[in-house]
Amino acid sequence: MRTAPPLLLTAFLFLFPLACCGTESVAPVVPAAVAVANAASETAPPTTPAPTAAETTMPNYNPLTKFEADVILKKGTERAGAGEYTDSNDEGTYVCRQCNTPLYRSADKFHSGCGWPSFDDEIAGAVERHDDSTHGMVRTEIVCANCKGHLGHVFTGEMMTKKDSRHCVNSVSMRFVAAGKELPKPIVKSGK
Ligand SMILES: [Zn+2]
Repeated sequence: MRTAPPLLLTAFLFLFPLACCGTESVAPVVPAAVAVANAASETAPPTTPAPTAAETTMPNYNPLTKFEADVILKKGTERAGAGEYTDSNDEGTYVCRQCNTPLYRSADKFHSGCGWPSFDDEIAGAVERHDDSTHGMVRTEIVCANCKGHLGHVFTGEMMTKKDSRHCVNSVSMRFVAAGKELPKPIVKSGK
């Protein structure tokens, strides 16, 4: 029994510093780790960003058939004379088949004999022109100014009309809306 106090004292002397050091060395680590974890959870971007308001309300263009997509998206050309509007004379408006933007008026349509619907003017601002040197020719491609869908080509210097301009447009790139009928609302994607 007489050895018990020194043993207890020894144990205390050994264990007290360990306990203190352990307390001192471990205690700061835990809060720091928690702080880091908290900071990370507050500042790290989520792995899948939540869609913005604009993205969740982004409209889709009109769905296209394979043939429509081949012409409008891949810049194809429908067979001459095969288009539904080549020889049409009805009064109305031709809108973009993909996005409904009004492109041409029937008043500007004329018979060119080329096999495709022809117009000597577009609705202001509706059509964009781009140089096209494919197929060994230098031509001016025309696309819908809104959705960039391919329409056809525009030619000048032929003097077919007083405006000396022939928009040679694929019927399948357009949809005709008869005069007096309500025009569909253009589909405009935000952020453009
Ligand atoms: Zn369009």
